[in-house]
Amino acid sequence: MTMELIPHFIDGKEIESKDDGRFDNVDPWTREVRTQVALGGAEEAALAVSAARDAFDSGAWPRMGFTERGRILHRLADLMDQHTYELAMADTQDMGKPISDSSSKDVPRSALNFRFFADHARMSAAETLPMDSGHHAYTRFESAGVVAAIAPWNFPLMLETWKIAPALAWGNTVVLKPAEDTPSSATILARLALEAGMPPGVLNVVHGFGPDSVGEALTTDARVDRITFTGESTTGRVIGRAAAGNLTPVSLELGGKGANIVFADADLESAVQWSIKAIFNNAGQVCLAGSRLFVERGIYDEFLRRFCEAADALIIGDPKDPSTQLGPLATEEHYTKVRSFVDGVEADGGTTMIGGLGEGWVVRPTVVTDAPATARVCREEIFGPVVVVTPFDSEAEAVDRANDTPFGLNAMVFTQNLSRAHRVSSLLRAGTVWVNCFFVRDLRAPFGGFGDSGVGREGGNFSREFFTEPKAVVMEIDS
Ligand code: NDP
Repeated sequence: MTMELIPHFIDGKEIESKDDGRFDNVDPWTREVRTQVALGGAEEAALAVSAARDAFDSGAWPRMGFTERGRILHRLADLMDQHTYELAMADTQDMGKPISDSSSKDVPRSALNFRFFADHARMSAAETLPMDSGHHAYTRFESAGVVAAIAPWNFPLMLETWKIAPALAWGNTVVLKPAEDTPSSATILARLALEAGMPPGVLNVVHGFGPDSVGEALTTDARVDRITFTGESTTGRVIGRAAAGNLTPVSLELGGKGANIVFADADLESAVQWSIKAIFNNAGQVCLAGSRLFVERGIYDEFLRRFCEAADALIIGDPKDPSTQLGPLATEEHYTKVRSFVDGVEADGGTTMIGGLGEGWVVRPTVVTDAPATARVCREEIFGPVVVVTPFDSEAEAVDRANDTPFGLNAMVFTQNLSRAHRVSSLLRAGTVWVNCFFVRDLRAPFGGFGDSGVGREGGNFSREFFTEPKAVVMEIDS
């Protein structure tokens, strides 16, 4: 049987690797090979950068103007809406995300990324600064050039478009390297971009691995003007070093170990429901996961009872089934990593209240208590459906515990006390603080992390600053 091949997409053409290299794409639910993927290397990466470079240097895309570029990006978003099921199923079969999530959340949000940044760029293309001296100054935000976008596997399309959309809206050309385990939606996206009227070479997709492969070749290519990366903190360090070699500006969105603080004055049921979403959405494979749950002692027992009940009720199954709420983990390698945390709970001094291993690569919603702050489950990013619940006695203790981590991506606070909500939000060292909610995003707001969670921010004007070369023009108007 000849298996379908997911090709690279370079200069508007679907191509295989020069040496016909391929690798398997495995469905994490069936654990069978579903498709094959073109295996790129340094040569394909260089080809894609050349295509992006030529497309940028020809000027057609950067000088097209915000209105016409915006029209193409809006057309692409419309086409994504029309292909929602195909795009959603691509991510679901690549990494096991429930189809209800990929079709109702990931794809609509990915289309919104294009609509938002197309409009945002048009509306914020320049700033004028009247001066007292008989001059005026203005800031032009000029396209930076070729952007290398390196994406992770947990929200494939959503995180790829979070990078590509602002990069394209600001007139850059892009080479995207999806994570090796989630290649499918990126290739579909590139096809749709061409159909929407995007000139060849403006959006290129190269498949392959990170180290000693496509990823590394992109981050060391001096013709690349910006590198935007989302992934593990350790990989972020490697990419940061590679980028420094060419003085290429880099944006790093890295790992997390989110604290979720529930005060006794919170709306208990609402806090339980949000906390369930915060850790078990996408089987916990979320950098923003609320994996450290701190509950004020007065409500600890009642909260824990309700939380375990709700966690146990989640429907586990085939991610292609619309009723499934929790699917398998994305890969065998990742399952093995998460399993090592689950297996190590008791040795680490913790107690597993509910959960453990399921069929295949499934890890059931797992709730751990009694774990000391030094335990691996409390310190390291698990990236799975495993939460540690710990009681606290005072606001100061909750803040200290929450900040006791090298990460600083996000935190959640549940309270009905307005002053406390503001006070605690200001004390938490995290790039995003959600009060009485989780995962709600305004695309104008900064997104990124403190400490080991990243370097730089993206979103709204923050994306503009990263994906452009801001230029000052100062003009005498009164001589
Ligand atoms: P990785 O860091 O392993 O990989 C991310 C991407 O980088 C992949 O495309 C990978 O390719 C590539 N890569 C790996 N090594 C190199 C290299 N030396 N040079 C260039 N590219 C390289 O992360 P995961 O894919 O495992 O994603 C999960 C991680 O992402 C978690 O730690 C999570 O917290 C983080 N994350 C952070 C988010 C944020 O916004 N802060 C959002 C979502 C996830 P390949 O897969 O082929 O090896």
